[in-house]
Amino acid sequence: MQIFCTIKEVKSFVDEKKQLGNVIGFVPTMGALHQGHISLIETSRKQTDITICSIFVNPTQFNNADDLKHYPRTPDNDIQMLQDAKCDILYMPDVNDIYPNNETQQFDFGKIGNVLEGEHRPGHFNGVGQVVSILLKGIQPHKAFFGSKDYQQVMIVKELVKQQNLSVDIISCPILREPDGLAMSSRNKRLTVEERKVASLIPIIMKKAADLAREKGVTYAKLYVDEQIHQQPLMKLDYYEICDAESLDLLQDIYNKRAISLIAVFVGAIRLIDNLEI
Ligand code: AMP
Repeated sequence: MQIFCTIKEVKSFVDEKKQLGNVIGFVPTMGALHQGHISLIETSRKQTDITICSIFVNPTQFNNADDLKHYPRTPDNDIQMLQDAKCDILYMPDVNDIYPNNETQQFDFGKIGNVLEGEHRPGHFNGVGQVVSILLKGIQPHKAFFGSKDYQQVMIVKELVKQQNLSVDIISCPILREPDGLAMSSRNKRLTVEERKVASLIPIIMKKAADLAREKGVTYAKLYVDEQIHQQPLMKLDYYEICDAESLDLLQDIYNKRAISLIAVFVGAIRLIDNLEI
């Protein structure tokens, strides 16, 4: 695996490979890699000829300075994991390579940008838009792979690609989970042993709530989640919503609709998100 620190180097490598007829796949990450990230690399390797991974902890998408400061950084381990996964290129820029002029860009993603994570983490999706736009324009891959763990983020990225008329396929990949069902996340590394135990309740509560939504309705399911999380002193619910899977409109009933439940919950100081189709 070759490691580049500038987007210019990545682009000239990509241009060379494209001229030879290769299909380029791209997996953007913030590092502290786990098997969920590696599953994206594996999917890219299956669907493309060359796989590029980026590791960049993007400051503009953090709405909480403490979260940015304490975001896990494990570069040596990340490089080893990517090598083992046979990733071709790792792009590991510093902040000046991504934002050379300190310019900010404002996006309007419409309704999908203003609910759920958009509402609870102001500025977050604008930061995601900035970095993804710079990466996709700079690298120009044929396909870019994103995890559906960040369900709303995939929708935002697809909207960004549409708005900016970029010629790249955005591929949404399934959520990888720990054996006890907790969605893999770099932030899980920050949980204490006790918090980690409690966090495993999240997928269990979501599964039961999905059943309740089908059997007894959306309001009942939401009350159940509220109650269950409230009972755990280490947890605090940020939101739990049941939405139309395509528009993210809040649903009062799920009859005849493709519905998805989405949760954000603090476990101690760590904010975790997850989602489950209903
Ligand atoms: P991050 O490093 O958290 O920004 O994530 C980089 C990419 O990996 C994003 O597209 C995430 O949605 C994806 N990802 C993170 N966790 C998982 C997971 N458990 N399963 C699948 N994809 C994931």
